[in-house]
Amino acid sequence: MAKRRQFIAGNWKMNKTVSESRELAEKLRAMLDGFDAADIAVCPTFVALAAVADALRGSRIAVGAQNLYWKESGAFTGEISGPMLVAVGCRYAIVGHSERRQYFGETDETVGRRAAAALACGLHPIVCLGETLDERRKGATFDVVRRQMQGAFSGIGPEAIGRVTIAYEPVWAIGTGVNATPEQAQEVHGFLRGLLTEKYGAAAAEALRIQYGGSVKPENARDLLSQPDIDGALVGGASLKAEDFAAIVRSCRL
Ligand code: PEP
Repeated sequence: MAKRRQFIAGNWKMNKTVSESRELAEKLRAMLDGFDAADIAVCPTFVALAAVADALRGSRIAVGAQNLYWKESGAFTGEISGPMLVAVGCRYAIVGHSERRQYFGETDETVGRRAAAALACGLHPIVCLGETLDERRKGATFDVVRRQMQGAFSGIGPEAIGRVTIAYEPVWAIGTGVNATPEQAQEVHGFLRGLLTEKYGAAAAEALRIQYGGSVKPENARDLLSQPDIDGALVGGASLKAEDFAAIVRSCRL
């Protein structure tokens, strides 16, 4: 059994007003009070970060952002920097989510810049990667995730690797209700750990957490989380309901 502490993060995407976000955070805090078997984070919209951080202060639930820009400040209208996220109470930042790649022109190179910027200001990046259905059907899954990893990790040295989480999120499983089977996910997670071993050595690769993301629900969480290389989950839709998210957290291996 893997010794890595599992890590469940909720990606709230572009959902919930500030007051709704605070309410959800307060519910989660009450439901998960005292739960110590996994690390937990929620990632609300930028405008709700302060309220959610305030609601969760002193709890076991950390706060993350859904993106960041790689410059610290300046004339970059509409962007948010890493130091701003740290100042508002963030511990994590998601980078390279497939929706950013699909709708906002994110590339392997820009994902790498965001990951490096997150690390430079003390954040813990959650680096998302995963193949499309077409790529899976063509048998290109391993090539795609290898290329995405090379881009995302190009600026990450051995001194910082301990603060990185990977989220393997097959695009065909995100928001579709069709999750990867535990075996399909485990196969890719094992492959990713092999790539990490080549680049950073066995000890670092063994310590790094690889989350699975894509239609994780209370009903499938336990099977997915029992795989040896699945070290948690990045949860979209189900993280918007406190009961569902709490049930997923409680499915972590002890
Ligand atoms: C996600 O967007 O990161 C995600 C995994 O979404 P869902 O759980 O809704 O598939």
